[in-house]
Amino acid sequence: MVVAEGAQGYIHSVETAGAVDGPGLRFVVFTTGCPLQCAYCHNPDSRHMKNGYMATTAELLTEIAQYRDFLTSTNGGVTISGGEPLCQPHFVRALLGGCKAMGLHTAIDTSGYLGEAADDTLLDMADLVLLCVKSFDPQAHVDITGAPLHPTLTFAQRLARRGQDVWLRYVLVPGLTDNWGAIEGLAGYAAKLGNIRRVEILPFHKMGEYKYEELGLPYRLKATPPPPPEDIARARSIFAQYGLDAV
Ligand code: SF4
Repeated sequence: MVVAEGAQGYIHSVETAGAVDGPGLRFVVFTTGCPLQCAYCHNPDSRHMKNGYMATTAELLTEIAQYRDFLTSTNGGVTISGGEPLCQPHFVRALLGGCKAMGLHTAIDTSGYLGEAADDTLLDMADLVLLCVKSFDPQAHVDITGAPLHPTLTFAQRLARRGQDVWLRYVLVPGLTDNWGAIEGLAGYAAKLGNIRRVEILPFHKMGEYKYEELGLPYRLKATPPPPPEDIARARSIFAQYGLDAV
């Protein structure tokens, strides 16, 4: 058992009945800290670790335990999201371990950029990895996130070698990530991995825009609309053509 008694980390918030971060209903722990600066990030207030508050795994696991029956009755579980959970690998490993010990399904939601920070023990504690690939075009990836793409692909290959279940996520942003050739490239790449159980096309939305204003941060996508339904359908169909289950 890897639960480190008293392990603590910085979190932004928790959600007790999340419906979008993995199967069933989820208890979602949003950690703080993220090395990326995605143009469309709707949690810019999570980027700095110390903008969060300190929580111990013991506190969180006590709270999660209250929801255990509810979560399992929906075939749900616990997801650690962010920010970037792999900024705090020891904390995340302990938290996942505690959830597994309770018999809960576990997931981490990550960009994969810090994949090297996740040791095999941490990954053993995650039943599912939600891997958000921001772009398959290396130049565009840098433009969108400020960081290179290759660490994410290295992590994806490692997860594939481990045979670990992955849901691939892709945020569709008009004028930013709707390069159809790059999407097709990602679909072909993902299909070869062999462990992608589902692809989720997430339409860009602006629910986080007010946070940029509050934080005094520039927001590049002020004039960008959500993607039209036909573009969402087109992105899904590209993945489906490669035999992937795209929703
Ligand atoms: S990886 Fe996620 S939390 Fe980090 S900047 Fe990008 S969208 Fe925001």
